[in-house]
Amino acid sequence: MSRIAFFCIPAHGHTNPTLEVVKELIHLGHEVRYYSYECMRKKIESTGAEYISCDDYDFEQKLTPADGKRIAEDMSFAIEVLVNSTLAMDDALLEQIKQWNPDCIVADSMALWGKLIAKKLNIPFVSSTTTFAFNKDSAKVMQGSLKDLVKILIQMRKAKKHIKRLQENGYDIKNVIEIIQNDNDTNTIVYTSPEFQPYSDTFSDKYVFVGPSIRPTNTVFEKTREKLVYISMGTVNNDMTIFYKNCIDAFKDSNYQVVLSVGSQVDIKHLEEYVTKLEGTAQFHVLTWVDQIAVLEKADAFLTHCGMNSVSEAMYFKVPLVMYPQTNEQKGVAFRINELGAGIYLISDSVLDIQTAVKELLQRVEYKRQANIISESFSKCGGSKAAAEKILDICS
Ligand code: UDP
Repeated sequence: MSRIAFFCIPAHGHTNPTLEVVKELIHLGHEVRYYSYECMRKKIESTGAEYISCDDYDFEQKLTPADGKRIAEDMSFAIEVLVNSTLAMDDALLEQIKQWNPDCIVADSMALWGKLIAKKLNIPFVSSTTTFAFNKDSAKVMQGSLKDLVKILIQMRKAKKHIKRLQENGYDIKNVIEIIQNDNDTNTIVYTSPEFQPYSDTFSDKYVFVGPSIRPTNTVFEKTREKLVYISMGTVNNDMTIFYKNCIDAFKDSNYQVVLSVGSQVDIKHLEEYVTKLEGTAQFHVLTWVDQIAVLEKADAFLTHCGMNSVSEAMYFKVPLVMYPQTNEQKGVAFRINELGAGIYLISDSVLDIQTAVKELLQRVEYKRQANIISESFSKCGGSKAAAEKILDICS
């Protein structure tokens, strides 16, 4: 029996894909401790893993929604937050982990502290990457415009001072690149297929592309109209009331069934009233949260912010996309979907553009066909079993 410690940031998108892997490890008789945050406790405990709270040592928890947005846009700020969290955890966790003595640490690529603790204690390490794996080749897809690149270079210079703080605390880390890039010497699980990952042939054989880890669901979503349009901007930067209202206006006179998952930052009562006052023909469901897997099983089109998980889940269920990415990472995912032909961009959030994009997506079968091809590439991957195998290889 092996002991495995998981580390993750408090984000559903980064946690969800690991849960099936944890379940598989426990099913095989191994012991898993999962270092995470209160907001993830329930789902972690439901896997059978022992949840260990990092709330006391974390700075991310104290971030405002505006800070959350800044993290996605300002790399120097993101690194400052990661370094703060690492240093805050240093004393308490280091001692605890030393005592438990895991055979392997698996850390999300953003949970810098997991990687650094593994390095400090000389424990075998596996990186868990829920976005595309990032190296100088795939960066071409992720970076966007030249303006973005210049911004990143300036931010990298600013981030140097935070790297110095880590070095002063005994962490063996040379530069910012070590934080943001997946290197070819690190054992890495990537939750997508080699066909979907840009430039997958440039990654070493230490990489295993296991495909998305789709959580099972018992929820049955009832489809009541011929076309079901699902809209979600994810769980982080979803405070977009005007956008949601424009979506409602765009579809009110259609025959679609429209599901809007709007998150908890907006005033949902206001949106519900907005829908109630309409005299349209569409059927709307406006909710703070839906079982996205259950909805995607039945959806015909997905208007998405292009978070990696949302896109992977949509492709798994062969649902083509209207793409409205907000951050660089989401722009990278959208770029790849556009390249493979499984979706179209939303040009602006105007009522007309939303209407036109969804109509085009539903009318032209090519998008659905391309989504089918990506879905097939996922089904050829080894899934959570292959991820668990990789971890156990490293343990031994
Ligand atoms: N999700 C869900 N219900 C919702 C909204 C989101 O189950 O109403 C899940 C979705 O299935 C996905 C995750 O939350 O697994 C969102 O991750 P993603 O990477 O797409 O975006 P993020 O929230 O990190 O921006």
